[in-house]
Amino acid sequence: MRWRISVVTRLGLLMAAVFAGTFAVIFFIIQRSQEKDLEQLMLKQSRILAQQVIFTRKWAAGHEGVYVVKRPGDMVNPYIYKVGPARIIPEVTDSEGRTLILKNPSLVTRELSEITSKAGLVSYRLTSLNPVNPQNLPDSFEQIALQRFEKGLTEIFKTVHENGKGIFRYMLPLRVEEACLKCHGFQGYKVGDIRGGLSLNIPMEAEIALMHEKKQGALTVGIMMLAFTMLTLVLGSHYLIIRPVGRLSEFADTGLGGEGKLPDALLERKDEVGALARSMQSSSNEIHDYRNELERLVAERTSALEKAKAQLEELSRTDPLTGLNNRRHLQAEAPKLLSLSRRQKAPVAIMMVDIDRFKNFNDDFGHEAGDRALVHTAILLRKSLRPYDLLVRYGGEEFLLILPIITLPESEEVAERLRSDVENTPVMVRQKEIPVTISIGLYVADDVYDLEEAVNRADEALYRAKNEGRNRVIVDSKISLNQEDISWPQI
Ligand code: GH3
Ligand code: MG
Ligand code: MG
Repeated sequence: MRWRISVVTRLGLLMAAVFAGTFAVIFFIIQRSQEKDLEQLMLKQSRILAQQVIFTRKWAAGHEGVYVVKRPGDMVNPYIYKVGPARIIPEVTDSEGRTLILKNPSLVTRELSEITSKAGLVSYRLTSLNPVNPQNLPDSFEQIALQRFEKGLTEIFKTVHENGKGIFRYMLPLRVEEACLKCHGFQGYKVGDIRGGLSLNIPMEAEIALMHEKKQGALTVGIMMLAFTMLTLVLGSHYLIIRPVGRLSEFADTGLGGEGKLPDALLERKDEVGALARSMQSSSNEIHDYRNELERLVAERTSALEKAKAQLEELSRTDPLTGLNNRRHLQAEAPKLLSLSRRQKAPVAIMMVDIDRFKNFNDDFGHEAGDRALVHTAILLRKSLRPYDLLVRYGGEEFLLILPIITLPESEEVAERLRSDVENTPVMVRQKEIPVTISIGLYVADDVYDLEEAVNRADEALYRAKNEGRNRVIVDSKISLNQEDISWPQI
């Protein structure tokens, strides 16, 4: 079996592919734009934070570091001793006797970063390709950034994913200012040199979660829209196209040319389907009319043919000279008469009639006169028969009669009457009355099944009649039934 894919399925699959593709592209574009928006937002935040850190650091540097009350465990930044010629006083005692400890700009920055980092807000640090504190060596991102800053780049940022967490990384170059040289001048920097960079790491968990949520939402809405569109499409095409087209196809298969009519709803539609329906309906009506006309013509021709056939049949069963039926008719009709007699439990009479010395008649008066004598005899024979008796011209000057449901005496009487009628009715030949006689072989029997056998018996009786001098009736019979049993038909 070949798979049949319905139009709805094809259309559905095609549209699903188109919609899914379009949706994927739109979804991707929105996604990218959201990522860009988020990046811009993070960038703006980073710039503000970076400036905040730079100003804080500048403020600390402006004060050559700040002294704060020493708490237990507080240590001076050990690297401040590496700053060269600057005079460093790591600890002082105030008038109250409290120990104050020096927090240099680098330490201020680190400690503040620890606080904001612990709060989950932002962590930052200063890094340099040539740091005083080896902990401030750059990582790979920072290293690339620092190299680029030296080539003139003014900021750099990147979203990275570390251990499944999103982090926005931002870096700004730090230029050497007057205040820096006091401590860092020994490193050979000049004002305006890039001494290092400020590196910020801002966790993006909340933002990414929000974006993810939006993505999920957009995906859900998209899928719902897709499903809804598909459903609308499938149902719409089913009701608008597939069902009516199916109805039309069914009509074309089974109803075309019939009495049936397409539904009004289809015929009245003002679209292509409606036009198709109307044209199919009108074709169907035309076919219907043609068919009716054809049927009428066929019936007419058939009846004419049957009539001609009947005429032909009639002709084939008729002897043209006497107008009597011929042997063909006898073969067709005799069995009915025999069975009728059998059913009525009555005898049937078979008479073989032959004109006496007819050869001589022909010789004496001519063939034409002979024909007339044949017609004359036929008329006489027919005259005294009952409607259901059968008379045929059996051969040249021979006639055969079948008289169903008749008694032996009656049939003898009929035969005798026929013989005497012929004898007493001469034929006129050239204004002269010429006598004609017939000999009859009569066979009467009940329970006759075999026509041929009965005819033979009648023929034998005729032969005897000829032998016994002609112009006579010779009877043969075979009656086994009691004559009182006969039920005579009402004719
Ligand atoms: P029988 O008394 O023994 O019957 O003698 P028959 O002369 O009648 O018998 P036979 O069989 O010798 O001759 C029959 C004749 O009937 C011969 C034929 O010329 C004639 N005949 C047969 N059919 C026709 C016909 O259609 N028209 C005419 N005119 N003669 C016919
Ligand atoms: Mg004969
Ligand atoms: Mg004869």
